[in-house]
Amino acid sequence: MLAASASLLNIPIVILDVGDDAPAKQIVARPPADAHVDGSFSDPEKIRELAAKVDVLTVEIEHVDVDVLDEVQKTHHVVVHPSPSTIRIIQDKFRQKEHLQAHGSPVAASLSVESSVEAIHAAAQRLGLPLMLKAKTLAYDGRGNFVVRELSQAQEALTFLGDRPLYAEKWIPFAMEIAVMVVRTVSGDVQSYPVVETIHKDNVCHLVFAPLRSRDPTLSARARGVAEKAVQSLHGAGVFGVEMFLLEDGQILVNEIAPRPHNSGHYTIEACETSQYENHLRAILGLPLGSVALKVPSSAMLNILGASNDMSELTSFAALALTVPGASVHLYGKAACRKGRKMGHVTVVADSDAARDARLQPLLAHLPGGAA
Ligand code: ADP
Ligand code: MG
Repeated sequence: MLAASASLLNIPIVILDVGDDAPAKQIVARPPADAHVDGSFSDPEKIRELAAKVDVLTVEIEHVDVDVLDEVQKTHHVVVHPSPSTIRIIQDKFRQKEHLQAHGSPVAASLSVESSVEAIHAAAQRLGLPLMLKAKTLAYDGRGNFVVRELSQAQEALTFLGDRPLYAEKWIPFAMEIAVMVVRTVSGDVQSYPVVETIHKDNVCHLVFAPLRSRDPTLSARARGVAEKAVQSLHGAGVFGVEMFLLEDGQILVNEIAPRPHNSGHYTIEACETSQYENHLRAILGLPLGSVALKVPSSAMLNILGASNDMSELTSFAALALTVPGASVHLYGKAACRKGRKMGHVTVVADSDAARDARLQPLLAHLPGGAA
């Protein structure tokens, strides 16, 4: 999606990913002399190879080799956005929590936990049950989380989370999950997109509703304020996705920040005057930012997750979505479908929430793998 935006603005981009048919490479062709890079975004040699070809380097995932990003900024004279120091803080979720807390952002109580049954029991003693046990690193789409409901699950949690370093968070019985995309320029100015409601299923983003409706007239400004403050505590330009918990009493806690375009901002492609992708490019290239305002009264984004290895389930779902007015289908072109893998999404826009929900209804009823 970033590549698609770049292509419209005629900004040449070079992509580092595995394979010649990696999704982003399907969008922008390059002449053989100046080809995309084939390899892993965590391979130092490949990052150096990419850095030698570009003026500005950005990431779409935070699980990259930050030392090499630091190095190429010095030796290859490329600009890296967001700054490697920001990625370093964010890629360790516990360090990120400590950073946010130290900079006055409200977060859930958390503590570092050794990988042992005894340590999990001790953490549960301090933070209570249920306990949210998380991998500090290499976590995304809920794959680094285990909800410990009873002490007897401690061993199961250790097995699930594997050999990654762990920390525990106090369980937050939130009323709603909300998110705000924040875009920051090279000179540090920030703008925040509208507040959205996010609905997760099995720890994975399922639906996003934009804008968020609330009876609390202060909520939107407060949530944007919390998100902007959290982003201002970090360095570098680009868009940041700020995930937050809204509590029953109206209090807002920051859950986590993504230093890149984010799933909760996909709706901006069809629903806002400038998408998160275009504004990310504008921000990191020092171009004027585009308006972050909504251009439709109501919108929703529905993730298409694989239900099995069967790609045809996705194509028939997409065919149905094409019949829904106001629906835009995005299929990512990933080579293989797997259960739980994000394969695409659909954004629905409408003149009212009621019309949006009516348009969404047949999609929810026919999701791959069964109705939502
Ligand atoms: P990921 O990096 O996989 O997105 P998150 O830390 O955002 O991981 O957790 C995924 C989801 O798990 C959240 O969106 C939320 O639904 C739930 N969750 C995370 N932390 C807590 C918590 N402390 N209490 C209750 N639910 C939580
Ligand atoms: Mg998350």
